[in-house]
Amino acid sequence: MNEERIQAALRDASDTQDVKIEAGVLASVADVFEDSFGDRAAVVVADENTFAVAGEEARRQLEAAGREQVEPYIFPGKPTLYAEYGNVEKLVRSLRGHDAIPVAVGSGTLNDIVKRASYECERPYLCVATAASMDGYTAFGASIEKDGHKQTLTCPAPTVVLADVDVLVNAPERMTASGYADLLGKVTAGADWMVADALEIEEIHPAGWSLVQDHLRAWIGNPAELREGDGEAMDRLIEGLIMSGLSMQAYESSRTASGAEHLFSHLWEGEGLGRDEDPPLSHGFKVGVGSVAIAALYERILERDLGSLDIDAIQRNWPSRDELEKEVRSAHTPPLEEAAVEQSLAKHLDAGELAERLEMVRDRWPGLRERLAEQLMGGGELRDMLREAGCPTSPDGIGLGWDDFRATYFRARMIRTRYTILDLAYEAGILDECVEELFSPGGFWSSDTGARSRTAG
Ligand SMILES: [Zn+2]
Repeated sequence: MNEERIQAALRDASDTQDVKIEAGVLASVADVFEDSFGDRAAVVVADENTFAVAGEEARRQLEAAGREQVEPYIFPGKPTLYAEYGNVEKLVRSLRGHDAIPVAVGSGTLNDIVKRASYECERPYLCVATAASMDGYTAFGASIEKDGHKQTLTCPAPTVVLADVDVLVNAPERMTASGYADLLGKVTAGADWMVADALEIEEIHPAGWSLVQDHLRAWIGNPAELREGDGEAMDRLIEGLIMSGLSMQAYESSRTASGAEHLFSHLWEGEGLGRDEDPPLSHGFKVGVGSVAIAALYERILERDLGSLDIDAIQRNWPSRDELEKEVRSAHTPPLEEAAVEQSLAKHLDAGELAERLEMVRDRWPGLRERLAEQLMGGGELRDMLREAGCPTSPDGIGLGWDDFRATYFRARMIRTRYTILDLAYEAGILDECVEELFSPGGFWSSDTGARSRTAG
C-alpha cells in the first residue's frame, strides 16, 4: 500500500484510526490490537470458512502475545452467511455476555454483522479482511436485511482494519472480481458528482474527491493480473477499496463512492435479485453491470448538445407532483414504493425551478461535457475490463431479465434523492430517447451487437 496516502486519508476519517495493508501483516494482529485497545480482552468473530482462512491464525497470534481472549464466535460456513438482522441479534446476545473487543475476520457480510452488533454493544472493533470484495470495510453503516428488505443500518466504521495481501489473493475468484467491480463503479460515480457540482446541487469536496479519484485509473488498471492472483494488483485493489471507504468517512456521505451505478445495484438488491442463490449475488457484480449501463448512457448523452435545449417545450411536458407520484407508484411495489415516492418528491422541481435548472444546464454544458469526457470511460471499455477480471457484464450474468434491466434506467432514479446523470437526462427530457437508442438495432444493448451473449468471461 501507499503508506502516505493511507495516512493522509486517516487524518480526515471520523472512525478509523489505523489501516495496515501488507503481505504477512496478519502476524502483527496482536501488536495492532494492543496499539488501539490496550489491555482489553479480544474475541475473534468469523464464520467456519473465514475462521479456517485467517481466524484461527489471528487467535493463535493473540494467544502467543498473551492476550486475554473469549471463546471465538463462529457462524456456520454453509449456507453462505447472510447479512440479516437475526445474525446481528445472535451476535449481540453473545457479546453482551462479556466485554471483549471483537476481531471480525471475514469479508462484507461478516464485517457488516459485526459492525452493527459492536455498535449496539457500544464497542469498537478490529476488522481482518479476508477478501477484497467491496469497499465497505472502512465505511460507516452496515447493509443488512431487516423487516424484509436490505437497508443501510447506522454504525461507525471499524477502529482498525488489517488486510493481509497473502490472504486476499487466495480468496475465491468471484469475491476479488466483486471488489474490482465495486471499485470500477467509481468512474461513473465521479462523473455523477461532477454533474451535481456543475448544477450547484452538491459541491465537489476536493479532499473527498481526491481520495477516490486521484489514483483510480492505477487501481483498476490490471484486471487480468488481478484474476491471476498477482499480489501487486491485489495491493492496488484493496488500497482503492479501503481509500474509497475512508473517503465516505471524510465526506460523511457515500457520494464520494456511489452514483447512478449504485442506484441500479440498490434497486436490484432491494427487490431481492439473487438473494436466494448460494452464495447470494454480490454487491459488486450488480454495481459492475450498473456501471456499464451508466457509462453507455453517458455516451448517448455526451453526443448531444444540451446547450440548445428548448426549455419551454420541456416545461410544457413536466409532470406535477401528483403526476409524478402516480408515475412512481406505478413503477414500484411495496416495500420500496413508499420510500420511492418520498425520495422522488423530495427532489422534484416545480416548473419554475426546472427552467432555472435547465438554463444552468444550457450555460454550463460545454465545459461540463469536456470534463465528463475526461473522467469517463466508454461502456465497452468498462465491459472489457470487467470481463478480464471475471465479472458478469450484462443482465444475463446476474439473472436479470432484459425488460427489467431496461426498466431500471427509469426506476432507479426514483429510490434516492441523490442527483445523478439519470436526473439530468430526465429533467432535460432526453432519458426516453437515450434509452431507446441503447436498445435499438446497433445500440449498445441491442441483441444484434453481441452484448447480450457476453456474460462472465
Ligand atoms: Zn459499492
